[in-house]
Amino acid sequence: MKSFTRKLMSVIVAASFCFGLASCSKAPAATSASDATTTVAESKASESSASSEAKADVKTVSAGKLIMATNATFPPYEYHEGEKIVGIDAEIAKAIADKLGLELVIEDVAFDSIIAGVQAGKYDIGCAGMTVTEDRLKSVNFSTSYATGIQSIIVKEGSPIKTIDDLLKGNYKVGVQSGTTGDIYMSDSEGGVGENRIDRYNNGNDAVVALKAGKVDAVCIDNEPAKAYVAANSGLVILETPFTEEKYAIAISKDNEALLAAINKALDELTKDGTIAKIIEKYIPTNK
Ligand code: GLN
Repeated sequence: MKSFTRKLMSVIVAASFCFGLASCSKAPAATSASDATTTVAESKASESSASSEAKADVKTVSAGKLIMATNATFPPYEYHEGEKIVGIDAEIAKAIADKLGLELVIEDVAFDSIIAGVQAGKYDIGCAGMTVTEDRLKSVNFSTSYATGIQSIIVKEGSPIKTIDDLLKGNYKVGVQSGTTGDIYMSDSEGGVGENRIDRYNNGNDAVVALKAGKVDAVCIDNEPAKAYVAANSGLVILETPFTEEKYAIAISKDNEALLAAINKALDELTKDGTIAKIIEKYIPTNK
């Protein structure tokens, strides 16, 4: 347990704002439908709110657009509401795009393809409840952090797994989203359950479906999606964990320093005028 926590602490960097962690009930119930890649044109940028300074400096993958890669099975940060992708990240990215005078385009892709896609110049930003880690910082830049998360463990009600120690010591299988921090920590043989006891899924929904079907004994996922999935699916519970807080930020290509600066400026303004707090409060009400 101790080494798991130490491992968590060693890969998590950066510090910024901390927001409330009340539960959110807006998650869709887990279904076995596969998560198709879709492109959703989110918004036409409002010219009036665009900063001319930012507009002049910023080059993007496709002129006039801000292409955001995400994985929309991560409520309340990003999830489908019909055809539309909604959530905290979608709204923050929209507010940033408006400030930059750009049209936001959201692409729903596998989480573990986001960093490579940003690096390859396929997407302008990765905005996916993405934790800042030392390893990812070797590949991309990260904006200022705008929210936090903690890894949680979901098990079935009545599971013999009552604590993280039970999970680590027993011969249990853990479902994770491929390439996430939950995957990295859990597949570590010292602090986690080790490679042989990991089942990787393309997204959180598929991992939860596998848990419900008894294919895995637990799912390791960030706390807010965990709460949302448990609220939307009966018979699941969350285990208390002593994990270290992770910082969420927007991934941007190392080749686009101007975009990093413009996004940080926009985030700063959106924090100061209360927009970010309002968006987070909408999806994670503190009085719930
Ligand atoms: N915060 C986790 C990570 O960055 C999970 C993100 C996600 O699944 N969208 O790895």
